[in-house]
Amino acid sequence: MRVDAKDMGADLKTVLITKEEIDAKLVDLAAEIDAEYAGKDLLIVGVLKGAVMVMADLARALSTPVTMDWMAVSSYGAGTQSSGVVRILKDLDTDIKGKHVLIVEDIIDSGLTLSWLISNLGSREPASLKVCTLLRKPEAAKVAIDVEWVGFDIPNEFVVGYGLDYAEKYRNLPFVGTLAPHVYGG
Ligand code: 5GP
Repeated sequence: MRVDAKDMGADLKTVLITKEEIDAKLVDLAAEIDAEYAGKDLLIVGVLKGAVMVMADLARALSTPVTMDWMAVSSYGAGTQSSGVVRILKDLDTDIKGKHVLIVEDIIDSGLTLSWLISNLGSREPASLKVCTLLRKPEAAKVAIDVEWVGFDIPNEFVVGYGLDYAEKYRNLPFVGTLAPHVYGG
């Protein structure tokens, strides 16, 4: 682990999930996804910006040929509580009608963003629509969502790293960690 080399070590409270654990989990998830989509064309949709790392690493762990597209949505107003009000900042470039679509998420917290995304993309009549997320916080769920592939269920704490930010920082940490209270004024 090269936390200090990246000069972010003092900002972290704990390393929750190591790079090695993430790598191993993505290999397992990729094998299951390969089995599910064997012989089918698959479009994977990443939700910017948090899912960039998991998209890149999951895509390379898959044997199934995929095409990739991106959506950017905003669901948070002030603070860190999901409002459920979602705005599309960048829509897909692809028409997904009749396609097998897999949404790739970094984290499901309240589930409100994903729930909106599923209904929005579902209305575009894909052949199938499933979800893979690296992280999920079961205690924070406000809506029940059927998620086919979950990397890790984690406690209801704010996490950073591996794509996830606090004020746009820490996305390039190769692991998932929690922040020291002094960072967010706690
Ligand atoms: P939800 O609608 O499920 O409450 O929120 C989903 C989005 O909130 C995620 O895509 C992510 O951008 C943000 N989010 C939720 N929990 C966390 C967290 O613990 N850390 C970070 N960095 N972002 C989070």
